[in-house]
Amino acid sequence: MRALIVEDESKMANLIRRGLSEQGYAADIASTGEDAVWMAGATEYDAIVLDVMLPGADGFEVCRRLRASGVFAPVLMLTARDSVEDRVADLDMGADDYLTKPFSFAELLARLRALTRRGPVEQPPWLEVGDLQLDPRSRQTRRGVVEIELSTKEFALLETLMRRPGQVVSHFDLLEHGWDRSYENRSNLIQVYIRYLREKVDRPFGVRSIETVRGSGYRLRKDGGRPAAAG
Ligand code: CA
Repeated sequence: MRALIVEDESKMANLIRRGLSEQGYAADIASTGEDAVWMAGATEYDAIVLDVMLPGADGFEVCRRLRASGVFAPVLMLTARDSVEDRVADLDMGADDYLTKPFSFAELLARLRALTRRGPVEQPPWLEVGDLQLDPRSRQTRRGVVEIELSTKEFALLETLMRRPGQVVSHFDLLEHGWDRSYENRSNLIQVYIRYLREKVDRPFGVRSIETVRGSGYRLRKDGGRPAAAG
């Protein structure tokens, strides 16, 4: 069993890690949400212990990003606030259980055991936007019945857009989902890959699904590029 602990207070993080390793868990610590998303993308964790109070992106946002980037390990959210609204927000963002601080280690352990027994949360089926379809698990893409071959980067871009149909997705968000931090000249990179993507998912079908929103980013049309009237 391997767990990721996401907590900026190192004392608390180390306490949890020590407790978990005594129980035979391997545990890594991420002190920011950004690190957590990166680490969970690189390593398959059996469970993620996620503190709500983090610098930068908070636990809710981190949870949303984890799910959006295809991480489906069960998430146990640690919250200092014990309000009904927070609990609802936790569950809406894809957290599987929550624990209010302060908590006993025995309780944390019991929750984690229950979660890991349950296994990964149910993964969403094919994403569908108009007649565009994409399966995050098998990494297949189709328009209508036509299979489309995409590179890893193209797939990551399209998946990010398809998870937010009709919304403007910034260059930054697109980069976050497809590239590590070492890339220079980033917005140019996105431009290039959006062009590749259009050549594959739009042009052969005579549609325009990926719109450029000048100065902001890109938007995937809710209808997938094929106006309803045209069938
Ligand atoms: Ca914290």
